Amino acid sequence: MIRFSDVSLTYGSSATPALSGIDLTIEAGESVAVVGPSGSGKTSLLRLMNALIVPTGGRVTVNGLVTNDPSSVWDVRRLVGLIFQNPDNQLVSTTVERELAFGMENLGLVSQTIRERVEETLVRFRLQDLRDRAPHRLSGGEKQRVAIAAVLAMRPACLLLDEPTSLLDAAGRREVWRMLEELRADSSKTVVHVTQFPDEIGLSSRVLVVFEGKVVFDSTPAELFELDEELSRWSLRRPATMDIAHELRDAGYAIPEGIWTLDGLLDALAPGHGGSA
Ligand code: ADP
Ligand code: MG
Repeated sequence: MIRFSDVSLTYGSSATPALSGIDLTIEAGESVAVVGPSGSGKTSLLRLMNALIVPTGGRVTVNGLVTNDPSSVWDVRRLVGLIFQNPDNQLVSTTVERELAFGMENLGLVSQTIRERVEETLVRFRLQDLRDRAPHRLSGGEKQRVAIAAVLAMRPACLLLDEPTSLLDAAGRREVWRMLEELRADSSKTVVHVTQFPDEIGLSSRVLVVFEGKVVFDSTPAELFELDEELSRWSLRRPATMDIAHELRDAGYAIPEGIWTLDGLLDALAPGHGGSA
């Protein structure tokens, strides 16, 4: 779906490249987390994936379309939707309903299709009660849910999320998590999720670590969390849940290895607890 071949990126007259030597393939349907310290190049990597920027060396292709071919740009953006860190930068309409329609109008879809998809999207993401509300007056979690729903209504093959929960409070974060969990159940959708929260990494089956403009790790969350000095070098933390599981194990509780979500831990302690994090 997305392929980087020896990609490098240097902004303006900067002396050091923001990214270099990136070789990467993301297959359709994969769910990939991207982590790394601030300034390591995560946002740049995402922007390259939907042709918001083009590489200064090498090439990026999306379903075979080369992103620095100007005639491919709109097709690439149709295939790959991007969610920003701050939903205020994404929401443009006066009501939630119009926000959901906006992107589809830009794609030139017929109004009957747009109406149908708006209804579907309102139901799917439980936004019916918000349909007439002004997006800019919603809570942070609601705003981000609307922003994500509006991009999904355009039916991109791939969704890129750039730290979508970093500006939200704990409740807003949980709202967005619930939505992302649902999304991952849809195995046809490719999801690339940049996050600074260790607990969010385990939601993906593959994790990339970006450090000083390079992809220095590309494997499963389980393998990442087994590392030790690398984690501190890359300024990454283990999920708090893993540390708690570890302590419970030391205290004699039968907690299986490889648990890093609160739900997973609750399930291990009280199977079928039925709640969600
Ligand atoms: P991250 O998302 O991991 O924090 P970024 O991709 O935003 O990293 O930034 C990577 C590097 O590129 C940083 O050194 C940053 O200062 C630089 N950079 C990012 N955007 C621009 C820009 N528009 N112009 C110049 N330098 C930039
Ligand atoms: Mg960033």
